[in-house]
Amino acid sequence: MSALQRLFKFNGGVKPAYNKDASTGLPIAVAPMPKQLVIPLHQSIGGPPRPLVVAGERVLKGQRIGGADGNVSSAVHASTSGTVLAVEMRLMPHTSGLSAMCVVIEPDGRDEWIPRQAFDYRNATPAQSREYLRDAGVVGLGGAVFPSHLKLNAGKTGKLDSLVLNGAECEPFITCDDVLMRERPKALIDGAVIMREMLCAGEVLIGIEDNKPEAIAAMEAAAAVANAAAGEEIYKVVSVPTRYPAGGAKQLIRVLTGIEVPHGERSTDYGVQCFNVGTAYAIYEAIALGQPLISRIVTVAGNVGQARNYEVLFGTPMKDLTALCGPLPDSDRIIMGGPMMGFLMPGDEVPVVKATNCVLVGSRALFPPPPPEMPCIRCGECAKACPSDLQPFEMYWFSRAKIFGKAQEYHLFDCIECGCCAYVCPSRIPLVDYYRFAKSEIWARETDKEAADVARERYEFRLLREEREKQEKAAKLAAKTAAGREKAAAALAEAEKPATTPEEEAKHALISAALERARAQKEQAHPENTVDLTPEQQAEIAAIEARRAEIREMAKPHVRQDD
Ligand code: SF4
Ligand code: SF4
Repeated sequence: MSALQRLFKFNGGVKPAYNKDASTGLPIAVAPMPKQLVIPLHQSIGGPPRPLVVAGERVLKGQRIGGADGNVSSAVHASTSGTVLAVEMRLMPHTSGLSAMCVVIEPDGRDEWIPRQAFDYRNATPAQSREYLRDAGVVGLGGAVFPSHLKLNAGKTGKLDSLVLNGAECEPFITCDDVLMRERPKALIDGAVIMREMLCAGEVLIGIEDNKPEAIAAMEAAAAVANAAAGEEIYKVVSVPTRYPAGGAKQLIRVLTGIEVPHGERSTDYGVQCFNVGTAYAIYEAIALGQPLISRIVTVAGNVGQARNYEVLFGTPMKDLTALCGPLPDSDRIIMGGPMMGFLMPGDEVPVVKATNCVLVGSRALFPPPPPEMPCIRCGECAKACPSDLQPFEMYWFSRAKIFGKAQEYHLFDCIECGCCAYVCPSRIPLVDYYRFAKSEIWARETDKEAADVARERYEFRLLREEREKQEKAAKLAAKTAAGREKAAAALAEAEKPATTPEEEAKHALISAALERARAQKEQAHPENTVDLTPEQQAEIAAIEARRAEIREMAKPHVRQDD
């Protein structure tokens, strides 16, 4: 019996055809080792990891090949032992068709692990545990690939009321969480025990859609053992109504706890945090077994002879996976994810990554091209279906018109891209495509703006530096001129003093002659300026001339008196 828990409803949602049975008939199989593994370094939200290996190097299974770039990042590891063939740009499993830095490994067939050892999180500080999980590459496996160590933080209060484990898996065709819960419930609950302790959480609510009775039964049995060990009912498996997108984090939190996390706020501020069940399993493997995240369960389904779930090493080409399931001859596309939220892949050679929960093979028959887009009739059906309480048609108008500021005012970034609005739209408008376009444009502009801000700051700093250098130069010149004037005034005063000795008379004569010569030269060179010379300037010139004359005098060969 699943726990008796008061359930709440979220607004909107739809009931698409689930198509899940085809891939749950067989147990999880281990996908064969491919000839080459192409492991992208950037597999999570946050900074792309730095490559830690070079071509020609031998690596072990679980060896770190990409180091986390700061705290908002997550490490990447070799999925097996072998030789690094290259660290180079390869096509990414992303709809953009862009390439990114990957480590290409040729497996040696020995599958030799690094030394593995459990991490004693109970005797580590929370910061040490989070750093360990960051370096173990653990990220959210529900699709968002947010680094898990950042979420394992209870926030301001330091403790939580509820830890929610998301086993809803509401997207059509995808069953990787379902089979994981059926086949590995104990490890999953062990992961929940670790997470609960790290978050100082009260209860653990495991939400599973009611179309997965086998998973519910398996998880209840494992939870009962954990509750018996704890001496109280902490781990509660809750069957939730099947309604897409019940697996959205905010939607599941709402259903299980009644808490409505407002736009732009964190659930931890409301005493609750939510993780995918696959993430709980990955945390168990990292902490209890000392194994970094190098593989995951992937559903291969759609236009194939036998849909199934496989445990797949990251870096395995998607075409190797689909080949295991016998793609039907009319297959014409690969989608990563499900039909509601998935992305069309640029080719079937792209690798399986941490975000790959499903490789969906498509065809024109399975996913017929949508009828032509018609004008919006403002029927409001999209708003009724939106589980995030947004106004999709307003966001559509402004995204389409490229008035992105207004689209943001309508909370564009709270859109979880669930596709419910497009699913119900009678005008068949591909609304999510417009939102994705608007978001990518806003991000691109933000990036451009940040780059322009940096360039402007650099330019302003250069101007400031040049101005400062100019002022310093002017100050130095002024000081030098003042010193020269003082010297000249002293020389003039000296010249004006009545001579008392023959030497002084000779010196005065020299100064007067020099003064005269300087004046004559000045007149000759710049007759127009002569009249403007102040007495100090004239004295200055005279002093210079006198000094020159002195030097000339001293430089003359001396004739001894007695010679
Ligand atoms: S459902 Fe479609 S036609 Fe109706 S208001 Fe929304 S976008 Fe317009
Ligand atoms: S895709 Fe966005 S706007 Fe459309 S229903 Fe989902 S959350 Fe709402």
